[in-house]
Amino acid sequence: MTPTVLVVGESSGGRLAGASLEAAGTARRLAAGDGEVVGFLAGAGTGAAAAEFARYGVGRVRVVDDARFDAAPAAATAHAAAAAADAVGAKWVVLAGTTFGRDLLGRLATRWNAAAASGVTEVAGDAEGLTVRRPVFGGRATETRRLVGDRAAVALRPHAFPSPAEVPVALAIEAVGAPDIPAALFGPKRTAVETAGAGSGPGLADAAIVVSGGRGLRAPENFRLIDELAASLGAAVGASRAVTDAGWRPASLQVGQTGRAVSPQLYIAVGISGAIQHLVGMVSSRVIVAINSDASAPIFKVADYGIAGDLFEIVPALTAEVRRVRGI
Ligand SMILES: Cc1cc2nc3c(=O)[nH]c(=O)nc-3n(C[C@H](O)[C@H](O)[C@H](O)COP(=O)(O)OP(=O)(O)OC[C@H]3O[C@@H](n4cnc5c(N)ncnc54)[C@H](O)[C@@H]3O)c2cc1C
Repeated sequence: MTPTVLVVGESSGGRLAGASLEAAGTARRLAAGDGEVVGFLAGAGTGAAAAEFARYGVGRVRVVDDARFDAAPAAATAHAAAAAADAVGAKWVVLAGTTFGRDLLGRLATRWNAAAASGVTEVAGDAEGLTVRRPVFGGRATETRRLVGDRAAVALRPHAFPSPAEVPVALAIEAVGAPDIPAALFGPKRTAVETAGAGSGPGLADAAIVVSGGRGLRAPENFRLIDELAASLGAAVGASRAVTDAGWRPASLQVGQTGRAVSPQLYIAVGISGAIQHLVGMVSSRVIVAINSDASAPIFKVADYGIAGDLFEIVPALTAEVRRVRGI
């Protein structure tokens, strides 16, 4: 018998995060057959996000309608999600592997006494449990793990799974309170979220396309070539540490070991050599394009497509072509 799967949704401004939709699609696949997927949301005004769950085939949604969850307290959310998993008789819990989701996963696994894995890029279920695959050692290897037992929770790497097709179903909200969660679990609180490069396109963590620039751009004013290419593609802007250390761009845009880990559908590295500390932050991107004048640069070893040439010629031509094709 296929088990019940709980999918934990993350929402902001009434919209489900793209990574939560990917989690919903994966939960549906795991429950295919005679299983059931139940959505979980916590916070005030989650009605629109619940409706979005239903648009993607998750009609039964358990909602903890409590504004204290709007500050994203991972400990309290883990408490409520574990209670929801018990209430609906879930065997597996699927989360989006966002920063919050990864924080939540460990807490939930401890509270719910489940086997857990984060950074998951493939997952399959059988009668004994879940089998997951995920990149390890900075993407140099892929490990396979079995999560056996009665309960397993997984956090999916954003963009590693396809966005599901819309399969609208009727919405049935089960609203519950959170009276038994100790007040201490609601702190520390998140009081504000600032998106890197606010107003200039999608944030790095959630972007489907990232265009990153490196020291090969030579001077801060040349970084506009990256901004323009990113704008033409609707992409987020990233940078190597050489760029952020030099102060050309804020540290929040740094991709790599001591910066952000990203795994977009498309990562374009411009004038970046491909030092291992950079690679660990982007090597799990689905398609990697490198533009570098040095044909022996290590970035080409991980690139799906490479252009060995001068970025000052290639990037403006690429931006012009993207604009032409997209009619902008
Ligand atoms: C503990 C530690 C943590 C670190 N963490 C990070 C991290 O999180 N992220 C990170 O990025 N780095 C990190 N680094 C630094 C890392 O080792 C590299 O120094 C850094 O990534 C290099 O940045 P870069 O590729 O932009 O510069 P470079 O290595 O100088 O490469 C510039 C590239 O531009 C190319 N180029 C030059 N001119 C052109 C042109 N006209 N057209 C096309 N290409 C051109 C060159 O061929 C070269 O390959 C870390 C280092 C340490 C020790």
